[in-house]
Amino acid sequence: MGQINETVYPHYTLANVGATLALAAGIEAPAQSEEPIPAVLNLVKANTVSGKADKLLIFNPDAVALWLYLRYTDFFAPVQRHTQLTLPMRAVMPSVTPVCFGTIYTGAMPAVHGIQKYEKPVIKTDSFFDSAVRAGKKTAICAVDGCSMSRIFLEREIDYFITESDLEAAEKALKLINEDDYDIIVCYQGNYDSTMHGDGTEAQTSLDALLDNAACFDRLVKAFDKRWAGVDRLCAWITDHGAHDGPDGRGSHGKDITEDMNVTHFWGVTHA
Ligand SMILES: [Zn+2]
Repeated sequence: MGQINETVYPHYTLANVGATLALAAGIEAPAQSEEPIPAVLNLVKANTVSGKADKLLIFNPDAVALWLYLRYTDFFAPVQRHTQLTLPMRAVMPSVTPVCFGTIYTGAMPAVHGIQKYEKPVIKTDSFFDSAVRAGKKTAICAVDGCSMSRIFLEREIDYFITESDLEAAEKALKLINEDDYDIIVCYQGNYDSTMHGDGTEAQTSLDALLDNAACFDRLVKAFDKRWAGVDRLCAWITDHGAHDGPDGRGSHGKDITEDMNVTHFWGVTHA
């Protein structure tokens, strides 16, 4: 033991996120969700007055692999500025967007929530969003038209801001933070996923998109902190899967390999 000569995957999977988000918010875990992550719940207990987060800002950048964090660590400084906990996480198979976000928000494996390939039906399985509705939480999803997050959790009593671009989705989230009183805001950003599929995972366009994701998180959390100072709150960077370059130099994902499966999540909780 101790010698790493085989593939190593993170202990926690995306299926541990749904219950974690719900319990952090003081609402019931999605009906079929797997166990929450104790480190996040401990952080919530330690850094809040009420023992739960009353306001949540959840940032969903697409396809930000763990290896990107290892190789471009400094890019993530604007994320780590606002977060106390960095967790290695394992995606679920197949490691594609609707399958993974389906698991993140239901807290259940793909065989349970039903999306097991690249398709975007509305998920009927109980999710974090359904739990939020039952608890009377005012919730918004900001996402570009056509992306998985604009489709698979439709038909809930929450507000959907479906935009023409990632930039517009981020601007909408910023406006909602500044001018409204949502309890839960989800902001999806697919620009890194787009550039890496077209140009490669480490093309300049992709690295620029990654920097843009970090800057966007920083901007949103700064506004969130200003708007809700003195309120127990949580921000999280929750990506869906990683990526690797194919023989043609273009980025891809969907395989059971560390490049596609291993990602990093960041959690921040404060009252200040
Ligand atoms: Zn994705």
